[in-house]
Order: sequence, then structure tokens, then C-alpha cells
Amino acid sequence: MALTGLLFNIQKFSLHDGPGIRTVVFFKGCPLSCKWCSNPESQRAEPCMMGETPDSRPYSIEETVDVCLQDRPFYEESGGGVTLSGGEALTQGKFAAALLEALGKEGIHRAIETSGYARPEVFEKVFAGVDLILFDIKHHDDRRHEEGTGVHNGPILENLQKALERGKVVLPRIPVIPGYNDSLADAEGFSRLIRAVGLGKAQLLPFHQFGEKKYEKLNWEYALRGMPQIHKEDLADYRQVFIDHGVDCFF
Ligand code: SF4
Repeated sequence: MALTGLLFNIQKFSLHDGPGIRTVVFFKGCPLSCKWCSNPESQRAEPCMMGETPDSRPYSIEETVDVCLQDRPFYEESGGGVTLSGGEALTQGKFAAALLEALGKEGIHRAIETSGYARPEVFEKVFAGVDLILFDIKHHDDRRHEEGTGVHNGPILENLQKALERGKVVLPRIPVIPGYNDSLADAEGFSRLIRAVGLGKAQLLPFHQFGEKKYEKLNWEYALRGMPQIHKEDLADYRQVFIDHGVDCFF
């Protein structure tokens, strides 16, 4: 039987998911359950109903590559490419690795947005085929990590270390969530972690409420309902802590 992946979106012309103009391939399934998740439907490994409509469907490698290649001229013009996202692409490791290989044969730049949470052998297989890892780090403290996401950060940090040992280009990204990891002490904890693994860069992703309506459509509880968004200006002092630790920190 042909290999298929369960995807909930293929989004074109993205400017925020790696360099240049990108096509973002959204995978279903995630082993984390972050309280602030803006794609809650992505967490389930099977299709969910968004009102009357299923949120996802199976795609073959050929169909996915064909959709991505439609925008090759934009990638070439802008230094862009394709980014795997989700959900967590590592939950469909076989499909992700095959898709990356097929895109590589076409000379397309390949990035992945990931929580890094996966068995080491799956992680290795998928990361062998990426040019850039956008590696989300949700919390520097293991107990708080588990409170916010449902999983420990040990396997994530081990995979991060492994990616760096393999010489992968890694950009750590921190979703800054009100009341969870937005204190200056948290900025200090993240800065130390980033320096400890030998990195000198980080991107901050301020909390937004783009996912709020999705929880309503799914009829799911949302722990951050009504929580005010964070704006870049709110994080000037937070960002400065990173800079003071020698981490080039940007939005
Ligand atoms: S890792 Fe991403 S997709 Fe998974 S639950 Fe957290 S925010 Fe949602």
C-alpha cells in the first residue's frame, strides 16, 4: 500500500516559518498537549470534525510534493522552501522522512518546526533530511514543562543535544506564555539553557489568541480563554535578559 500522511493543511506563502517564502505542511498528531496550543485539532492523530467538516485527510508523497513544487519559483526568488509543522511531524516519522527525501531530490530547502519530543531513532531518521530545525523549547524547568505540556523535557533536551552534535542548524524558539514562562527569572533560565548547549540565538514567539475559536468549534475546554495577548513591546526587559547572556534574541 502506498505511504500516506494525515495532514490538516498545506499553507502557501508563509513568511514566518523559516527563511524566505515557504510552504508549510501541517501534520496531524502531537504527543504534547500544551495549554496554549493554537492548533488544538492537530493534537489528535485521527481526523477531528470542525463543525460539519473533517479537519484533515490522507496525502500521498507525490501529491504533497506536487503541491509544494507549484511554488518553486517563489522559493528560488526568496531563498525559501518547505517547512514541516503540525501537530508534530515526528509522530508520522516514516512519512516525514520520505517527504523530506523527495523534496531533497528536487533541491528544495527543508525545515521542520518541532517540539523535539520523539524516540531517538525517529528523531535521527527525520532530522537526517532537514536543513534547518526550528526547535521549540516550552520551559527550562522540567516540572513546569510537564505542567504546561503533559510531558517531561528530558527527551527533548537529549534530542536537541544530538541534533547539535550532528552539526544541524538549530534555531531555538520560545513561545512566551502569560503566567507560565514569561517572568524575568524564566528568561534567565532559558538563556542559561541555550548557552549551556552552545547556542547563541533564540526567537521569541509571543502568546496570541489565534486558536481560541478552534476550541469552540471542537467543543473543547480552553485553559487560556480570555487571556490577553502578549505584544513584542511587553517583552523588552525579557529580551534584554537574553542579550545580557550573549544570546542574540529576536522576534
Ligand atoms: S507542541 Fe505544538 S502542536 Fe503540540 S500541543 Fe504543543 S503547541 Fe500544540
